[in-house]
Amino acid sequence: MDESEYQLEIKKLNRELRRVKKDNELLRIANDQVSRTQAYIQKDITQQIFYINQLLKSSPYLLILTNHQLQTVMTSDMFFRYETRYDEDEIKRGIPLSLALANILPGDLMHDLLSNCYQVLKGESIEPYLVRTYIAGQKYDIQISIMLMKQKNEVFGLNILFVNMTRMVEAIEQSQHADRAKSNFLANMSHEIRTPMNAIVGMSEFILRDSDDPKAKTHASMIRSSAKTLLSIINDILDFSKIESGKMEIRKSHFKLSNVIIDVGTLMKIKVLEKPIQLILDLDSTIPEDQYGDEVRIKQILINLISNAIKFTNNGSITVKIWKDSIAGDDYNYILGCSITDTGIGIKKEEQSKIFENFIQVDTKRNRKVQGTGLGLAISKHLANMMGGDVTVESEYGKGSTFTVYVTTHSDNKTPVGVITTIPTSNLNLEIFKATFTARKAKILVVDDSEINLKVSCGVLAPYKAQIECATCGAEALLKFAKTRYDLIFMDHMMPVMDGVEAANMIRKMPFGDVTPIVALTANALSGADSEYKRLGFQDFLSKPIELYDLEQVLRRNLNPSLIDAPDPEEHDEMLKVNETGSDAAPQESPAAVLTSRLIDINVGLRYCMGNTDFYKKMLDIFASSSHMKEINELFSSGDWKNYQIKVHALKGVALTVGAKALSDIAKEIEQAVKVGNVEVAISHNSELNDVYEDTIALINSGDLAISSE
Ligand code: ADP
Repeated sequence: MDESEYQLEIKKLNRELRRVKKDNELLRIANDQVSRTQAYIQKDITQQIFYINQLLKSSPYLLILTNHQLQTVMTSDMFFRYETRYDEDEIKRGIPLSLALANILPGDLMHDLLSNCYQVLKGESIEPYLVRTYIAGQKYDIQISIMLMKQKNEVFGLNILFVNMTRMVEAIEQSQHADRAKSNFLANMSHEIRTPMNAIVGMSEFILRDSDDPKAKTHASMIRSSAKTLLSIINDILDFSKIESGKMEIRKSHFKLSNVIIDVGTLMKIKVLEKPIQLILDLDSTIPEDQYGDEVRIKQILINLISNAIKFTNNGSITVKIWKDSIAGDDYNYILGCSITDTGIGIKKEEQSKIFENFIQVDTKRNRKVQGTGLGLAISKHLANMMGGDVTVESEYGKGSTFTVYVTTHSDNKTPVGVITTIPTSNLNLEIFKATFTARKAKILVVDDSEINLKVSCGVLAPYKAQIECATCGAEALLKFAKTRYDLIFMDHMMPVMDGVEAANMIRKMPFGDVTPIVALTANALSGADSEYKRLGFQDFLSKPIELYDLEQVLRRNLNPSLIDAPDPEEHDEMLKVNETGSDAAPQESPAAVLTSRLIDINVGLRYCMGNTDFYKKMLDIFASSSHMKEINELFSSGDWKNYQIKVHALKGVALTVGAKALSDIAKEIEQAVKVGNVEVAISHNSELNDVYEDTIALINSGDLAISSE
């Protein structure tokens, strides 16, 4: 290599060296960068681990992370408060979940937890759930949530969270306890007030029934009316408390619209009697008769709104318009509405929204004499809301008001309610209430620890002429039941030593105990009490103070029909006379628009069935399928006049019960003749008796009897 070549090589090497140096520098810089990044990441990870540890240390919850084999990976520090056998390192190394929680959850809860964990590992989700457990003798309510730890498609394990809810559950239980105490207090208060009221109402009823002294009657009537007002106030307060505690329930069932209209109309007609007001019913006759809803609460709202209209109207009229409306896009439900328009005192514009608030009464100076609690509209609005409806008002001060209520309802059967032209003033008017039947053969036991209540019960039962016995405690009731087979027992609930429920249960276990109807007789008037008593094994329920009308229905429902005597025509005439003269009923008035034929007077039949059309229809069916005439004809052919007279006598009574007056009249004529030995009348009239009987049965079977519509 010559000198120039050598120099060239040196230059080359120097260039190479410079490049390598530069690369080295770059490498160093890169290295530096990597180290710094590594340190940063390390710091970040350390920080993250620190934060996670802080979280786990300070967490008020017990948290356990497991791998997919359900072995512990990590826990919050709270775990070591409950479980002292394992330390942190052991947990990190992995303890089976069942061992880790062995001191915290008993076997059955552990079993549930493990099976839930497996489900979550399989991909199902489990809602958080509450368990009650005891750790070192102390009670804990724990909410357990199980979540899956998963990244991309890889399952890492579970995240199980235990939240101590003991305090919250205790608070809920305490409030439920307080609620129960409130309900019990209300039930007791109602009981305490209703029990003496039973005597007040009952005794005033007796004075009204038995006294000839007009002054005493007036006073008794005032006592009874005040007692009833007090009772309705108690009922309002009970309803209000139920709404407040969220316990108000809507109980839907099938009902007949005409029954609601007639029942409400009857009550209202009695109220309106005292004032020069015309009560007008404007009913859309195409509304289906069969409805599905809460009949009792619908009646309650209507009674409240119409009673208000009567209270705040001194003259003019009250028009009750009942209508229906469809709901757009809903073929199943529709709106059932009622507007009550009065020509009363009206309500100022600014006060119209206030009247729906609790305990609010407006215009109090003007209405000083009008009784009320200011709760009726609040309760009605609430009930209507619960039935998918509302109550609203339009009013002009000094001119009158229109209250409109509507509820959502439906009906499976579209048969229209038809025309209801007049509302009867029926025997619902207790002033003129008379028992519509007797049950002389019925043996009835009344059990009540209060002598005065026993007196009232026996007094209200007296018109039925049944054989009544009394017992003043559960034990005495058992003794009496062991000796006598009763047809019906009225059992007070709250009695010392052995209460009514216990006594009824014991009776059930005695011979014939399971076939004897036992009616709970109680001052507990909380809504739902009836179903509660039925759940306790009673057949029926009658609240104190005893309403004579309710008593009659309870007797009808529970006494074997064979124990109900056929009415004696003389007694029957007396009953009707009292009902007609005691009421304002015009002779042509009838419950619903009624067909009164020569053969069957539905008005008379319905009176015996308390205006209950279903019951009446049933009675007619029984009558039509019985074999009275066949037996009579056999006795007629054999000339057995004694038994013939007995059977004709029976036919006379039974026919009258179903309103078959023509048949009853001819039977009466024959019976009276045969009784005095004049069998000629029987011989000449028996074929007429047969004709009238057949025509009557044909009319019943034809279905032409318009019992609820014209
Ligand atoms: P109350 O038991 O006092 O009747 P409500 O809640 O039923 O309670 O009614 C509240 C108030 O609304 C009544 O006190 C009265 O001032 C007013 N009010 C209700 N209905 C009518 C009406 N038809 N005409 C005039 N005022 C009425």
